[in-house]
Amino acid sequence: PRSPYDDANIFARILRGELPCTKVYEDEWAYAFHDIAPVADIHVLVLPKGKYVSWDDFSVNAPADEIAGFVRAVGTIARDMDLVDAGYRLINNVGPNSGQIVPHLHVHLLGGRMLGPMLD
Ligand code: 5GP
Repeated sequence: PRSPYDDANIFARILRGELPCTKVYEDEWAYAFHDIAPVADIHVLVLPKGKYVSWDDFSVNAPADEIAGFVRAVGTIARDMDLVDAGYRLINNVGPNSGQIVPHLHVHLLGGRMLGPMLD
C-alpha cells in the first residue's frame, strides 16, 4: 500500500510557493534548491514535483515517464553546475533510521570540494 503523503510537509509548502527557497532548477518533473544547512560547498536538494514520500514510494508508484524525468533532471542539474569533472555525490535517505526528516522524496546533490568517506 502507498504511504500516506502529508501535504503540510515543508517541501510540499516550498513546491506550492508558500515558503521561500533558493531555486536552482525547475522543469516539468523536478524542482531543486539549495539546502538550508549545507554540508558541502554545493548542497542541492532535488525533488520530484509529484507527491512521493520516499524513494521507496516513488520507485513503486511513480509512472515511468515521471521516474525518467526526475532521474534526468538530477543529471542535468549536476552538468549545469559543472560538477561532472569535479565529481559529485548523490544521497537519498529513506525512513527515520537513515536520517530522513522531510517526508517528500529528495535527493541530496553534494559537490564542490573533496568529499570525505561515505558514512559520516
Ligand atoms: P533529510 O534528512 O530528510 O534527508 O534531508 C532534509 C534536508 O532538508 C536537510 O539537509 C535540511 O537541512 C534541509 N531542510 C530542512 N528544512 C529546509 C528548508 O526549509 N529549506 C531548505 N532549503 N532546506 C531545508
